[in-house]
Amino acid sequence: MAHIAIIGAGAVGLSVAYRATQRGHSVTGIDRHPARCDGCLVGNAGLVVPSHFAQRPELDFGLVQAGLLMLCQTKHTLAGDARTAEQARALGLPAEALNAAETAARVPHVTMKIAGSVYFP
Ligand SMILES: Cc1cc2nc3c(=O)[nH]c(=O)nc-3n(C[C@H](O)[C@H](O)[C@H](O)COP(=O)(O)OP(=O)(O)OC[C@H]3O[C@@H](n4cnc5c(N)ncnc54)[C@H](O)[C@@H]3O)c2cc1C
Repeated sequence: MAHIAIIGAGAVGLSVAYRATQRGHSVTGIDRHPARCDGCLVGNAGLVVPSHFAQRPELDFGLVQAGLLMLCQTKHTLAGDARTAEQARALGLPAEALNAAETAARVPHVTMKIAGSVYFP
């Protein structure tokens, strides 16, 4: 078994460390600012988005698959996200652009003023 040095203790480095220790290797993690914690993970919103999600039945952590609703405050962002939805559909991923009324009918508890949304089931 090897002793592995992993430089950068963010989500990627820690995931690699986790897998490596599972396989019996020992690991030393090295981070430039371990106390400051200024990597991407600090701002991470915790979204598990469809493009990242792989079907892993062995990982049972109580995930409820209710889809993802991207709320757009302006017509400009809605137009951009609607284009993303079109591209997703072209790749076989279901995605639906909704105007404000359609969003309210689907998800009544959204209180912020929006131009619309894109729903990924
Ligand atoms: C505001 C924000 C919100 C986000 N929300 C989501 C989300 O909801 N869902 C989602 O899936 N993704 C989200 N992301 C993206 C996700 O957080 C990142 O893709 C992921 O955390 C990147 O992990 P990483 O390990 O590659 O990088 P980081 O978490 O940035 O870790 C890199 C680490 O390497 C260290 N490092 C860098 N250079 C060196 C060096 N030379 N020597 C030693 N150490 C070094 C840094 O200090 C840092 O700790 C978000 C990102 C941001 C910024």
